[in-house]
Amino acid sequence: MNAGLDSPWFDSLLTDLRALPVPERADQWPELQFERLAAADGWRWNIPVDCGGLGWSPAEMLQVYRRMAAASLVTTFILTQRNAACQRIETSENRLLRWRLLEELCEGRQFATVGISHLTTSRQHLNTPAVLATRLPDTGGFQLDGNVPWATGATRSQILVTGGTTGDGLQILAAVPVDRAGVTVQPPVELMGLSASQTGSVSLKSVFVSDDEILHGPVAKVMSYRSGGGAGSLGTSALALGAAEGTLNQMQDEVRRRPELQQYLAPLQAEAAELALRLERAAAGQSDAASEAESLRRAANLLVIRSAQVWLATTKGAGYVAGHPAERAVRESMFFLVWSCPQPVLEANLRELSCGRPEVF
Ligand SMILES: Cc1cc2nc3c(=O)[nH]c(=O)nc-3n(C[C@H](O)[C@H](O)[C@H](O)COP(=O)(O)OP(=O)(O)OC[C@H]3O[C@@H](n4cnc5c(N)ncnc54)[C@H](O)[C@@H]3O)c2cc1C
Repeated sequence: MNAGLDSPWFDSLLTDLRALPVPERADQWPELQFERLAAADGWRWNIPVDCGGLGWSPAEMLQVYRRMAAASLVTTFILTQRNAACQRIETSENRLLRWRLLEELCEGRQFATVGISHLTTSRQHLNTPAVLATRLPDTGGFQLDGNVPWATGATRSQILVTGGTTGDGLQILAAVPVDRAGVTVQPPVELMGLSASQTGSVSLKSVFVSDDEILHGPVAKVMSYRSGGGAGSLGTSALALGAAEGTLNQMQDEVRRRPELQQYLAPLQAEAAELALRLERAAAGQSDAASEAESLRRAANLLVIRSAQVWLATTKGAGYVAGHPAERAVRESMFFLVWSCPQPVLEANLRELSCGRPEVF
């Protein structure tokens, strides 16, 4: 497989993804899209070479997410959650588990997802941890109890990368087999958009995880430990930017028929091109990583929302009819205000949206 993202095979994957029908309901799943992805070796892209993968760099994976999100947001979003699980496994010092799981994941024999938001962006206002991790001294492991509020594709996964907080405030992350006693994957919920990501909660009742299944910890703030790709990471901006670009590409078709609309498309395209450049620079380490990641996500959130709304307005009432791609773009753009959005990004977006005056990004 040619690793170059400019290769015809990658373009052909994107063409297929654009052409396939978009699953929209929580009882659907982008099966055909994943068949195409598997045929393009997509399960291997992000996995290290020593575990049988292709070892694409983080910068290459950002390009993948951006370009794929423009073609099929739901497929790409699910892929990011699966790859987030792979990343937590890859950075584990538990070498045996790392090697075994990644080998199975890259061959597509297993599917994994993350349920980690209760350690970063979700349930942070509660006094008690969403998932309690209790050390079981005699058995060499932990017991997990609580509720993982969000896990995309848990219904389709064999492995859930999730964590809990111990009585003394430390945290663990573990690779929990979804068929383990005490794990109940709740039915996926119908969402405003991206319902076919089959996102829902997972309840954990006296779930035993052995020390062999622990990926990280116990340690303070496990999500910042040996990290890469946490809440609001560059990957989330790549997804938002790609979704905006997909919207603008489709609006371009409208503009071909109605050239007077070009004046509204052009500034959004220019903004997208500038963000793409900033994303590339950030991925190459040419900017202050933490502040640029936040600033990019703020800007990408606003761009994806505005692009969808401008496209909808140009399609008029026809675009407001359920099933039109412009109304779907509006619904899907809202996702970025609530998914993997760190508090400072959310607050900045709230200020910008509530006063109608864009801040300098
Ligand atoms: C479609 C979708 C897919 C997702 N997929 C995943 C996934 O695969 N893995 C994953 O780990 N995460 C996932 N997430 C989670 C996501 O990244 C965020 O963590 C989540 O959207 C945060 O929303 P929340 O409702 O859980 O936030 P919370 O902060 O828990 O808010 C919930 C509710 O609590 C109340 N509340 C909030 N703050 C306060 C306060 N200070 N005082 C009083 N009440 C308060 C509000 O009523 C609020 O509506 C997903 C989210 C979505 C929407």
